[in-house]
Amino acid sequence: MSAAEDRGLTDGPVDLTEKLKQRIARMGPLSVADFMEAALLDDEFGYYRTSDPLGAGGDFITAPEVSQVFGELIGLWCVEVWSAMGAPKPFNLVELGPGRGTLMADALRAASLVPSFVEAARVQLVEVSAGLRKQQKAALQDCGAPIQWRKSLEHVPRGPALIIANEFVDALPIRQLVRKGKGWYERCVTANAKGALAFSVAKRQAADGQVISSIFGSTAKPGEIVETRPLADELIAGLGRRAKRDPVAALIIDYGHTASAPGDTLQAVRRHDHVSPLKAPGSADLTAHVDFTQLAATASAEGLAVWGPVTQRMFLLTLGLAERCQALLEGASPQEAELIVSGAGRLVNSDQMGHLFKVLALASPDLPAPPALAEAVEAPA
Ligand code: SAH
Repeated sequence: MSAAEDRGLTDGPVDLTEKLKQRIARMGPLSVADFMEAALLDDEFGYYRTSDPLGAGGDFITAPEVSQVFGELIGLWCVEVWSAMGAPKPFNLVELGPGRGTLMADALRAASLVPSFVEAARVQLVEVSAGLRKQQKAALQDCGAPIQWRKSLEHVPRGPALIIANEFVDALPIRQLVRKGKGWYERCVTANAKGALAFSVAKRQAADGQVISSIFGSTAKPGEIVETRPLADELIAGLGRRAKRDPVAALIIDYGHTASAPGDTLQAVRRHDHVSPLKAPGSADLTAHVDFTQLAATASAEGLAVWGPVTQRMFLLTLGLAERCQALLEGASPQEAELIVSGAGRLVNSDQMGHLFKVLALASPDLPAPPALAEAVEAPA
């Protein structure tokens, strides 16, 4: 019997659309945040539970998959920050959403120039996808440091910590709120008369409208949509608690904007193409722009020092991207040389990842400025 027939017999939903429609019929419209969480993390049908998202054959590609130089420079950044912490032994080298483990493998290879760093590192990987955990294990089998997988940052043991998050925050669910009159109303997902998933707006005002107005101003126009990200705020609150006990530095890299502004940025990507976020949820990656101003404001309120944001271009060039590429080009074949140059270009060109992606560091307040974030201040939206 096929899995579908089996499901038919047990009356379970055949896909996430059907599962969500059943939930909506029972409990009413879902908030965009609940919809996004289900689309990405539903136990049976969530995108990160069922798909192998990354790479040329997957749905999207990330900086460490484009060029080894990305992870290598981050590894060197980590060594410097660890030294500034007083070279604690041991310490937690944490990555949130490590994908295929490529960034961490490249970082540890570069950092092995300072063997005491790798000896002191306890690698902590926060990953929901069982398939990606397997790939991370394979990528890191010879990395020279012990590795543990955790459900969330809260599960990482106490102690000094360096935390890396590349394209992780964009996958944390967003709330969307719609301006009507003087109030804010939760944007929701419901089923329309034709039985398709469709956006709707809650009938009652959101209870935290004043907070929303304090972020986005009370002058928003009718119909405008704003976005907040409660789980990012929780993540930063957790960092703040850690920083009260131990030295902590987190490097957050993602695509997004430097000024909080209205706009619907929810986007679904399948096989490198944009698709409708409501069509076939669970089968496409679902993300939204990161609002770096909100992250920075939350971090300051939690007592963390905020460095940046700067553009990915500025960050990588200041860390020595050009010099590292030059070293790699020596002895490279013509085909390898082309890949090295085009990969580096993709990371820093302003019409590719260079300007859209931003880098923010959040750290214990008594640590000195981390490399490449204090001197560069320009970060176009
Ligand atoms: N950092 C990697 C992968 C980015 S894709 C890279 O740069 O290539 C997003 C990653 O975050 C994936 O590994 C995904 O499985 C993981 N992820 C998404 N939401 C998560 C969550 N709530 N908790 C833990 N991991 C999550």
